[in-house]
Amino acid sequence: MFSELHLHLGGAILPHILYSYLLRQQGHELLRRFPTHERFEAFFAKKHRSLEAYLQTHTLVERIQRLHSLRYFIQRLVRGAVLFDNLAYVELRYTPFYRTDDHLDESQRIRQMAEVVQTIAEAAVSQPQYPLQVRQILCVHSKLSARVNKSTVELAIGHHAAGTRDASRNGSVVAIDIAGPDALYRPRIKELVDLLKLARKRGLRTTAHVFETGDGLYPELLPHLDRIGHGIQVPLRQPNLLRDIAKRGQCLEVCPTTYVRTGTLKTLEDLRVVFARCFDAGVDVAVCTDNSGIHQNRLPMEFENLLVRDIIDFHQMEACHRAAFRHAFGWKGEPRPL
Ligand SMILES: [Zn+2]
Repeated sequence: MFSELHLHLGGAILPHILYSYLLRQQGHELLRRFPTHERFEAFFAKKHRSLEAYLQTHTLVERIQRLHSLRYFIQRLVRGAVLFDNLAYVELRYTPFYRTDDHLDESQRIRQMAEVVQTIAEAAVSQPQYPLQVRQILCVHSKLSARVNKSTVELAIGHHAAGTRDASRNGSVVAIDIAGPDALYRPRIKELVDLLKLARKRGLRTTAHVFETGDGLYPELLPHLDRIGHGIQVPLRQPNLLRDIAKRGQCLEVCPTTYVRTGTLKTLEDLRVVFARCFDAGVDVAVCTDNSGIHQNRLPMEFENLLVRDIIDFHQMEACHRAAFRHAFGWKGEPRPL
């Protein structure tokens, strides 16, 4: 069984399930834009010219996955993760603000974020017949105001503390993440570092989408992270940083399909040097899906795609599998066997 460390709620649900839900909401505005299942699925299947264009798919899904429908989608996600992805553990990330009602003003939406987190926590544990360990990671977002982002971190801290800081509790918030177009981080680095420091001081763990594309090279964020979301541009462009990453015991969350979909890499083969340099430097790598539903590519298949192309060998796959349990923020005990 597998441990999935990098999965976005907005990308975790199959387009078919999203569309079936839309059909039941008679007259949903998106049905005018997507009159058929095929048109809807084609939107998610295409390659994009940039990370920013790719992230539009999340914006679309966020219009469907709002507070009133979250329970339904989380229950589908948990069931699918156990039955079809063979997952024992998952850390699910999302930006709470984007799940609130957009007709409310900013202050009201900030208040409603707590309800979003609570709804997901409850939905995650509501099907004991599917024994998946779920943890939440709340994302601050490069397109949101400093006020919303600070409130997101404070909400994560509050939720974490209310669970008596027990990261092994199913459904609990364990960490914060930085997400959104990475080119927008640049003028906000101090703000982002302060948020990461605050989270850590209050017992949360940290990860961030960084070194994913050529626009996301921010070495000043690295010392404040427990794991590095993507990070593939470190071995590709700044391999001199790998030694410090190994010393700090940080793990890279590598999501192979994403880089081809965003146009960051031409083919999966480009990842061969990423894995080789990480293994040589003693840096742990966890293989993740990022958006398994949108990609229609489950975690076991991500591994298989790497294996059949000899991008990693079977021993390296075992090492990545163990790393994904060892670096999980809420997993206790030994890794599950493959
Ligand atoms: Zn991601």
